This record gives sequence, C-alpha cells and structure tokens, in this order.
Amino acid sequence: MAHALSESLRAAFQGRVIEDRDALAPHLTDYRKRWTGRSIALVQPERTEDVAALVRWCGEHGVSLFPQGGNTGLVGGSVPDDSGHSIILSLARMNAIVDVDPYNNTLTAQGGAVLASVQEAAARAGRLFPLSLGAEGSCTLAGNLSTNAGGIQVLRYGNARDLCLGLEVVLPDGQVWNGLRGLRKDNTGYDLKQLFIGAEGTLGIITAATVKLFPRPAAQMTAFAAVPDAHSAVKLLALAQSCLSASLTAFELISGPAVALVLHHMPGARSPVETQAPYYVLLESSDAENEAHATARFEALMAAAFEDGIVTDAAIASSLAQSAAFWKIRHHLPEAQTADGENVKHDISLPISRIGEFIDAAGAAVQRVLPGARIFVFGHVGDGNLHYNVSAPAGSDAEAYRAMRASEKTISQAIYDVVAGMNGSISAEHGVGQLRVSTVAGYKQPVEMAMMARIKQLFDPKGIFNPGRVVARQ
Ligand code: FAD
Repeated sequence: MAHALSESLRAAFQGRVIEDRDALAPHLTDYRKRWTGRSIALVQPERTEDVAALVRWCGEHGVSLFPQGGNTGLVGGSVPDDSGHSIILSLARMNAIVDVDPYNNTLTAQGGAVLASVQEAAARAGRLFPLSLGAEGSCTLAGNLSTNAGGIQVLRYGNARDLCLGLEVVLPDGQVWNGLRGLRKDNTGYDLKQLFIGAEGTLGIITAATVKLFPRPAAQMTAFAAVPDAHSAVKLLALAQSCLSASLTAFELISGPAVALVLHHMPGARSPVETQAPYYVLLESSDAENEAHATARFEALMAAAFEDGIVTDAAIASSLAQSAAFWKIRHHLPEAQTADGENVKHDISLPISRIGEFIDAAGAAVQRVLPGARIFVFGHVGDGNLHYNVSAPAGSDAEAYRAMRASEKTISQAIYDVVAGMNGSISAEHGVGQLRVSTVAGYKQPVEMAMMARIKQLFDPKGIFNPGRVVARQ
C-alpha cells in the first residue's frame, strides 16, 4: 500500500518529491526537538497549480497534508503526526517576491519567501516591512501569516494579521482562491482572508500574500533601562506612549534572572547598565523627522522616567552597533534558556495594566507547585505578551528535572488559571499547534470551540489539512 502510494506520488510530482531518510529527517522534528513525526515524503511544488494538484491527490488517496514553512514554530504545528500516512508540503521553491508597489505601499510575495528576504525587498524600494522576530532568517511569510506572528514591533504596526491585505489560498478540495488585493478598504462581505490567518494551516494552504509597507524611519533610538519592578515597567510604557506616541515601536521587558542567564551563556556579553535590577526594559523609538528630533524626545522621556523613580539606571545606544548589542541580549534569551536546560514555556497575554499583578500571583502559584523553581520572564510587554518560562531549582540533578517534567501540566495549569482569572489568553503569539490543542478547550467558551469545529468541518470535511492541530480531531 505504502509502496503504491509512493509510486503514484512520484509519477504525479516528478522531481519534486523527497523521500530520502536523511533529507526528510530535519522536516520531521520541530525546532524545539519535542515532537517527531513520520511521513511518506516531502513535496516541494513550484506553482500554485502544483499545490492544488497535490491537495487533490491527498484527498483522493486519503492522505493528510502538513504544510511546513521554516519549521521555526514553537507549538509542534509544523511537523507531521506519527501516523506515517501523510505528506509534508514545503513552499521552499515558491519563494519569489512577485511585486513591490511603493506608491500603493504594498508587496506581493509567494508563501515560501523567507521573512528576511521580504524585509530586504521592501528596503530596496525605500520602504519598511515591519514584521520582525528572532527567526526572521528562516521563517516564511506563509508561516508568519498562518501563525499570525507578532514579534517586536506589534506595538506600532500590529500582528501579521494587521499587515496583510490579500491572500492566495488553496482550499482542501483543491480550489484556488486568488484574493491578492492590495486594498485598504473592501467592505464586500466577510473578510475571508482573516479566517486563514492564524489558522495554522488547518483551513487552507497560503501560497501568496500581499502585505502592507510603511515609510522607513528617519532615525531610531534604543535604550536599555533598569526598573525597580514590573509595575514600574508598565508605568514606563504609559509614559513612553504619552511622550513618543506612535514613534514608540518596541517595548520589551526582561527579568533580572533572564538577563543574568544571557550574560552567563553569551560569549563576550556585557550588561548595558551597571545597576543590577529585578527587571529591565528594552525600548525603541522610530522617528519620522530626523536624528535631532528623535534624540530630544527620547532624552526628555528618560529624564521624566528618572524623575518619577520608575527608571533607576539607563543606557541610550549611541550607535547602530550599540543598539544591535542591546537587541542581541533580547534575542539570545531562547538560546540561553536552551543552554541552561529544560524548562516549561508559556506564551501568555494579559491586559497590560495587570502585568505586575500577574507576575506576583503567578510566581506564588508556581512556587506552590514546584518550590525553588526558577522563573524567567521576558516578552513584548507593550502588547501585554509575556514569555513566562519555569526551570528547575538551581543545582537540580537529573531526578529533579524528571520531577519537573512530570509536574509540567500542573505548573502550566497553575499559570493558566491565573491568566484566565485576569481575562488573558494562554497563547499570545505562538499558537495552539499540538502543544495546546487539549488545553485550549478548557480556557475558551464551549460556544467558541463549537464555532471553530464547525468552521474546520465546513472547509475541510475530510480532515486532510494538519489534522489534530488547533481543533481536536472530530
Ligand atoms: P512553520 O513553523 O513551518 O509552521 C508554522 C505553522 O504554519 C504550522 O502550523 C504550519 O502547518 C503552518 N504553515 C506553514 N506554511 C504554511 C502555508 N503555506 N499555508 C498554511 N499553513 C502553513 N513567533 C512570534 O509570533 N513572535 C516572535 O517574536 C517569535 N520569535 C521567535 C524566535 C525564535 C528564535 C524562534 C525559533 C521562533 C520564534 N517565533 C516567534 C515562532 C515562529 O518563528 C513563528 O511562529 C513563525 O511565524 C513560523 O513561521 P515558519 O515559516 O517557520 O512556519
């Protein structure tokens, strides 16, 4: 049976089918190396019509299809399940920048375009594509849209959802919807593209997208500031928003232990400030006027923050290299955590006003489950988004790590209960994938889960696309 399927696939998609074990291996395991699946083959179509043909082939043969971009997703959504009765779809050969229209401020690219190449194409046209995240050298535009990726500039420009004007999508029955419109206004009924954005490949294959571009800033200012507590960070955000308004483009919180971890694991790293603080904020402004205007506004903000006692020390980057060094600390956090050992990760969002209260309550809840646990907090606080990661107590042995792994569900539940009590979300930007598919139902209303299941059933009645992800198998 498996042999016949492979023969049929090879015949239909000559030269675009990868079955070699070694070549397939990196596509079967996710970025965090938590999930490994099995698959008949990986197929790399070259045109939208090939994708449609592959989708129809899957429908005819009852084979599941797992779309995969850069495989940088953090919730196990991009790797196949272990049924072995599936195909991985990669758009690696569909990565062209199709059109850049600087007057309409839009860019159209195929779904397999790597995010950094989209940013570069926009820059060559004198424009900015503001979606920016640590994995931008390998994640793809379609992956970003399918996960509704956030990143470091959501505060000013919004999530991937807000940046998208049009999509081309292959539906589970093989039909192609060409919705590549670059319009800011189009009230002609339901906004269908929004259904596919953030759907994590469960409703359609995104083969191309038209996205918004923006003017490039004339000057950027970056500061690394020590703050006495998380409550002060929230006050600093409010102050920065009133002093800088739309020029404030990034506002990241990093806890003292998280900075210490990076300094320990990143060769040559130095703290930008001398003061050791419980929390730090990395903030950035993008000014439309000029360097002098940007500097004056930014320095006025920092002076006001010192006066209010919500900043105790700060360094303002005096060069692009220094700004990059500040950001390197932020971007190195996931790597430093990996080097430190296993941890239980959470990606939550809250009303910004409740962040300080959450950190206090969640910290107490975690200590009740795992006394001595080390908590590393960082995230896009300007968007109310925290990465809240729990590690075993310092000096733990293998036995303690096993115990932590065994109580992972209890730890997460303790945190999620605090999140839910504050009307937050248990997945801010990483999505549901397979990691949270059984948890999410406990934190959404039954009517929400029922609507999601009906939408999945309507689009994909045979359950071909990414089965068991986002919505539990029917
Ligand atoms: P993949 O991981 O390959 O796939 C992700 C999901 O999209 C899967 O469900 C997959 O099936 C689906 N998919 C992929 N291609 C298609 C397609 N053509 N059509 C339909 N569905 C498709 N995320 C953030 O939001 N903000 C961050 O700041 C951030 N920082 C990160 C930093 C690092 C170091 C890493 C490793 C990850 C980070 N992420 C972040 C997560 C990740 O980069 C994003 O989720 C990214 O958008 C995934 O893109 P990808 O191309 O790698 O998609």
